[in-house]
Amino acid sequence: MQEFGMKNPSAKLTPEGLNVAIAHWNLSPEELSNKSIELGQGVLNDTGALCVNTGKYTGRSPKDKFTVIDDITRDTVDWGAINIPMEPEVFDKLYLKVTDYLKDKEVWVRDAYACADPKYRLNIRVINEEPWANLFCNDLFLRPTEEEIKTQTPDWHIIQVPSFLANPETDGTRQGNFTIVNFTKKVILIAGSAYTGEMKKGIFSVLNFLLPNNHDVLSMHCSANEGKDGDVALFFGLSGTGKTTLSADANRALIGDDEHGWADGSVFNFEGGCYAKCIDLSADKEPEIYNAIKPGALLENTRFFEDTNTVNFEDATITENTRVAYPIEHIENAKEPSFGGDPKNIFFLTCDAFGILPPISKLTKGQAMYHFLSGYTAKVAGTEVGITEPETTFSACFGRVFLPLHPTKYADLLGKKLEANPDVNVWLINTGWSGGAYGVGERMSLKHTRAMITAAMQGKLNDVEYDAHPVFGVLMPRTCPNVPEEILNPRNTWDNKENYDKKAVELADLFINNFAQYASEASKEILDAAPKANQNV
Ligand code: ATP
Ligand code: MN
Repeated sequence: MQEFGMKNPSAKLTPEGLNVAIAHWNLSPEELSNKSIELGQGVLNDTGALCVNTGKYTGRSPKDKFTVIDDITRDTVDWGAINIPMEPEVFDKLYLKVTDYLKDKEVWVRDAYACADPKYRLNIRVINEEPWANLFCNDLFLRPTEEEIKTQTPDWHIIQVPSFLANPETDGTRQGNFTIVNFTKKVILIAGSAYTGEMKKGIFSVLNFLLPNNHDVLSMHCSANEGKDGDVALFFGLSGTGKTTLSADANRALIGDDEHGWADGSVFNFEGGCYAKCIDLSADKEPEIYNAIKPGALLENTRFFEDTNTVNFEDATITENTRVAYPIEHIENAKEPSFGGDPKNIFFLTCDAFGILPPISKLTKGQAMYHFLSGYTAKVAGTEVGITEPETTFSACFGRVFLPLHPTKYADLLGKKLEANPDVNVWLINTGWSGGAYGVGERMSLKHTRAMITAAMQGKLNDVEYDAHPVFGVLMPRTCPNVPEEILNPRNTWDNKENYDKKAVELADLFINNFAQYASEASKEILDAAPKANQNV
């Protein structure tokens, strides 16, 4: 085996000692970028970022994600369609096949870690088949110093081999691609898909198990930033609701854009970088993200204007889910190291394409718990002309697909945190539609959403008057600096008020039906916070 690069002298690829043809250890972003270009796997755009295509998969494949059922997971994991069990023997056989497959291959190895709070640090070694996937890991995970690389040993391994395909007939998978998490062996094995998000969200699900289970730390699918006075804000939300966009704020230090832990007195980033959506990205609306696209960043599945290497951010030919990965230092006002104190404001982001929920509302503790367990957003089902009916998603804790434990485990931890920090404000923000549902109304202006969030964080909504929403009961401010008053109550923005009232009740029904699964375990305080579906409004 030939080896290049920098490593701990005693480091092996895997604990059992994997053998490959060539291993490149911990190359610099520039080297990885150059190698990718040399191999014909990428090109540079006009601002120096590496542009690649991730191939067949341009998103995660949740139906092909398995968890090995063993002594650690058997009685703790919430088994089902989200956490699909796999027998250890099935894993062992596949692991051998994959490692055998790598025997004559060239691999790219990276020593990294997760969790910016040293108390919870998890060292990771990643083995990639392509240099640009290794660049992704450099950007997204935390980067150890040279000294640390030379001395650290990995807690977990990620082995990612996109060109290997399983045989579902004999290998126990659903199809050729798979992601398997093995807590006993501390391995994430990924094959058949080159979508880099599988690696980042693989480690996220590991931490979503370890932190609540072993350390009583709440792990969260949220972004976080910090004001000049050290006040921390969290932004929870499902994909596309605005975590990355809204946490990038010129007036606040970015802690992280997607995955955090909340320990007593500490909110810390799991990651060392961001993974931002690029669709319709503009320098004007999102300058921080736009300017992060420079050498060291990785653009995925974007396309250029013809005969140029200028990215056309409106081009969704390959996918709507175009992305850029970059280390957090590419954001000018990033917090280093990436952690702060207990939050002062928590925002639940929802992109309500029905246009029902208010653009900003204040939640009681019961309502906060209700909305946390509900995890609501509504997407537009298709991009085809004529299909305009939004589709609801209820995903507990705003990220159920990443949660190995039952949602009530995380909700209980949040409840304890809110009790211990009674001054924290919880807000529900609708970054979705206003003036009617998708097809009639329009998406809330980003400028207005930012103004509402800023006002909340600056305490400017503390002394204004509020009205309770007639169906959802959440409190809507009557005024907000830099926001037109008429948009604060969504009913006012609809031409047809009766239609609004009818649709609000329909949405409430969907909440209630979804919540039935948690009703038996929920307290009276939470149950009382449910929307009132059958009330005449
Ligand atoms: P993921 O979990 O997939 O990373 P995310 O929550 O980070 O998703 P963003 O990447 O922030 O989501 O995506 C929000 C998208 O919606 C961006 O493309 C942003 O430009 C757009 N957008 C439009 N209007 C708004 C608004 N009012 N508030 C927030 N985002 C908006
Ligand atoms: Mn994001």
